[in-house]
Amino acid sequence: MFEFHILTLGRFSRNRFWGELETQAYRDALCTTALIKGKQHILTDPSLPPGEMAKVLFDRSGLRPGAIGAVFITHHHGDHFVGLELFEKARWYMGALELAAMKESQDARTRELAGNIIPLEQGVLEGIEPFPLPGHTSGSMGLLFESPDGRVIVSGDAVMSRDFFRHEAAYFNAVDPEQSRRSIRKIAESADIVVPGHDNYFIVHRENAGN
Ligand SMILES: [Zn+2]
Ligand SMILES: [Zn+2]
Repeated sequence: MFEFHILTLGRFSRNRFWGELETQAYRDALCTTALIKGKQHILTDPSLPPGEMAKVLFDRSGLRPGAIGAVFITHHHGDHFVGLELFEKARWYMGALELAAMKESQDARTRELAGNIIPLEQGVLEGIEPFPLPGHTSGSMGLLFESPDGRVIVSGDAVMSRDFFRHEAAYFNAVDPEQSRRSIRKIAESADIVVPGHDNYFIVHRENAGN
């Protein structure tokens, strides 16, 4: 059983559900960073530069960076590991397929970070299930765990926001929109609460989820 907390509330550059075009950016993006509190604390997708990330972590949880045992990155898009270097004492994890893609990056810092990330296998994070969510990127992965309020999934950009979930919609930059739709359906069957890539967490209403 784990408690989770939202550290940063995400936003993204263009939202078709607000009538915005997919061909232009309207605002800068910030991903949602979550903290999963357990025997070891796990932080997902560090969205802010190290100094700001440390402040937000402390302001929202009372914890210092050294208290984080593991950092999980849902996929290799740069806005999901902005402040990774802050957590120098933590182990860094990512899905194996996604990590392989990150190692091919054109960007030197990204390749260097990838060299220090460990592929996340089943059973490594006790009580937390690695949950493959292909579509946004080929190797996108979420984390599924039990909380006092039900089963929670940290989805990364497999779900951008509540609107994208309800419409089973992929973001404009998804590598495979149809696979994205299947991943959203899998989430709808498996979780009670979604922590999406760029929005606040929300409740899954099963009667609306097609099962
Ligand atoms: Zn992304
Ligand atoms: Zn993102």
